[in-house]
Amino acid sequence: MKKAAVNKDNLQTLDLATLDGEGSFPCPTCGTLISPDDESEEVYQIIDTKMAGDELAELVICCGTCKTIIRITGFQQLLTRLPNE
Ligand SMILES: [Zn+2]
Repeated sequence: MKKAAVNKDNLQTLDLATLDGEGSFPCPTCGTLISPDDESEEVYQIIDTKMAGDELAELVICCGTCKTIIRITGFQQLLTRLPNE
């Protein structure tokens, strides 16, 4: 297996609003299922977060399997779709 290195050219952007389900998605490069709710850091590591007011606007993570950097957007759209009563 080829050893992967963190590489800025290896950056994927993912819009949660375009996904089905509850926020889990396969890594665009290796297909590992990543859940933003999983905070064990085994599957992925958080590199950066951007807030818009009190809301999470953007999350930059690194896939623990292939080291692809994934920029996740669309959290606000996701939140507005969830029942919030
Ligand atoms: Zn991956």
